[in-house]
Amino acid sequence: MRILVTNDDGVYSPGIAALAQVASRFGEVRIVAPDVEMSSASQSITASRPVNWKRTALPGLDAYRVNGTPGDCVMLGTTLWEKVDVVLSGINLGTNLGNAVWHSGTLAGAKQAALLGRRGIALSAPATDKGQPDFDALKPWVASVLELLLGIPELCLVNVNFPAKAPRGTLWTRQSLRHYDGRVVPAKDPMGRTHYWFTVVPVEATEEGTDRWAIEQGYVSMMPLALDLTDHAQLANMQKMEAWRKLKFA
Ligand code: MN
Repeated sequence: MRILVTNDDGVYSPGIAALAQVASRFGEVRIVAPDVEMSSASQSITASRPVNWKRTALPGLDAYRVNGTPGDCVMLGTTLWEKVDVVLSGINLGTNLGNAVWHSGTLAGAKQAALLGRRGIALSAPATDKGQPDFDALKPWVASVLELLLGIPELCLVNVNFPAKAPRGTLWTRQSLRHYDGRVVPAKDPMGRTHYWFTVVPVEATEEGTDRWAIEQGYVSMMPLALDLTDHAQLANMQKMEAWRKLKFA
């Protein structure tokens, strides 16, 4: 099995090395990742300039860096290395739950794989008291989850999040739709100029059965995703009321 490993924290993140080391047990592994952090870059593709491809020395790993986004890395990685079966993205330094599914660069790496007809699995973990996830402690759990997911070929796109402490097990989840108020907080830089922080403040309680709920209960969240963003319930509603909910240009 050919496994392309990417992330949005950059090629030098400890999370990508940990993921590539675990993935090596399941097949041939190559890292292709952004040269700098691209968190929250979502699924952008660099279209206004060319991108570079450079070999990167990571101990025991076949690694390349690209001056682009996670989406670029997957585009380029699957072109220059043929027959990639699955793209693993992560392990992100921080969770990707609920609304983060829209913003996440980690998830975008996996989504780009799915758009290209490959399988994609995104993996994220919260920081511990040490300031970043404890990757050595996580590795056995990552291995178990990958063994489970890689063995289910019908799963094209999965978002995996690990809890902060040793997990109680795994749960299949749906996306938390908890809104956030997206507050923009002004502050001053050292020169006295005003700048702004985008903050994420949840406004509702966690809904049972969601990705966020699983993490709060100490489980690994495994959320299958679809590329189809259509609101099928609303589509059916609109089609039922078609007589008056559409325009006719004759
Ligand atoms: Mn990140």
